[in-house]
Amino acid sequence: MLSTMTAKLVDTNNHGTISELGRRVLGGGPISRDEALWLFNLETSGDILDLLSWANRIREQFKGNKIHLCSIVNAKAGSCSENCSFCAQSSHYQTGAPKYGFVDPEPVAAAADEANKNGVTAVGLVAAWKGLNEGPMLDEVCARVREMKAAGKTRPDVSLGIIKSQKVADRLKEAGVECYGHNLESSRRFFPQTCTTHTFDDRLQTIGHLKKAGIKICSGGIIGMGETREDRCDLAFELKAIGANVVPVNILNPIPGTPFAKNEPLPVMEILKTIACFRFILPRQEIMIAGGRTVNLRDAQSMIFMAGASALMVGNYLTTLNQPVDKDLQMLKDLGLDPSWDSHGFSDQEENGCGCGKESCATEAATA
Ligand code: SF4
Repeated sequence: MLSTMTAKLVDTNNHGTISELGRRVLGGGPISRDEALWLFNLETSGDILDLLSWANRIREQFKGNKIHLCSIVNAKAGSCSENCSFCAQSSHYQTGAPKYGFVDPEPVAAAADEANKNGVTAVGLVAAWKGLNEGPMLDEVCARVREMKAAGKTRPDVSLGIIKSQKVADRLKEAGVECYGHNLESSRRFFPQTCTTHTFDDRLQTIGHLKKAGIKICSGGIIGMGETREDRCDLAFELKAIGANVVPVNILNPIPGTPFAKNEPLPVMEILKTIACFRFILPRQEIMIAGGRTVNLRDAQSMIFMAGASALMVGNYLTTLNQPVDKDLQMLKDLGLDPSWDSHGFSDQEENGCGCGKESCATEAATA
């Protein structure tokens, strides 16, 4: 006879449905939005651990044991004109975060050296401003990218906000940018609660210019901002539709002084379940766990890989601290995971299309 505890934790119908969806994704098939939402709504630890175990198999199937490591440099800090409700760098809120203009070559070179020493593949220059137009600042950004490229220590990534002109995207590509970070943040429905100084469509348009320029897309969002599970599900499908190559999942670290300062933290199992659902929806993408990892997951950090994560942001975040890189590298070693990722991760995605799920895309990639 089952104990009450066992009966509560194991629902054999759910077990069967999770396995059926897991097998389908392993076999290269997609899951529908309704099926994904059903996964997002799983509640018991038994079901969630079932889901994680399938997400782990899917990660292994499409990503092997490689883990992509990235780090970022705050290339222009604070005084941002935008009002993103989670952000310490917005000029709309008093947060005490640092403020400075666009960085000189030396700190960027030092960050690339440090990253290279730790086996980190890419360093992203992140600027706290609305976006980038043609002009002297674009020239300066391109100069920093060229210097990083010439030094050859890490891949020069950037995250420079909204781009309204194709020429800007083309200039960045020409300078050597391979991958551009531009999060959608949340679902289209929830986005206006995160920001009102620019729109979800401004972000989509930027991604359109970048893709046209041939730049890879690093785009994800933040969970724990007050959005529903449905919003998280829709964000994942939106990221699939735009063909994001790398999908950062940030977990809100509430910053005093911002509108989200008093948000309740998400339970650890809810975070792990969200990562696993993203892996089911985005089987070939690099799913990267980024900001808020240490503070929200604490001792459960190593479980992100079992939940399907295949990439990790290491080193400090823009305005908050992360755990030391040594500790992250030890965690990977203990789990038998290999941080020596190379860019074949991108080509793997492209051999099968960019990940957008459109049949025409995979066919074009196969015949290119
Ligand atoms: S645009 Fe970027 S830097 Fe500016 S407030 Fe929003 S998240 Fe912060």
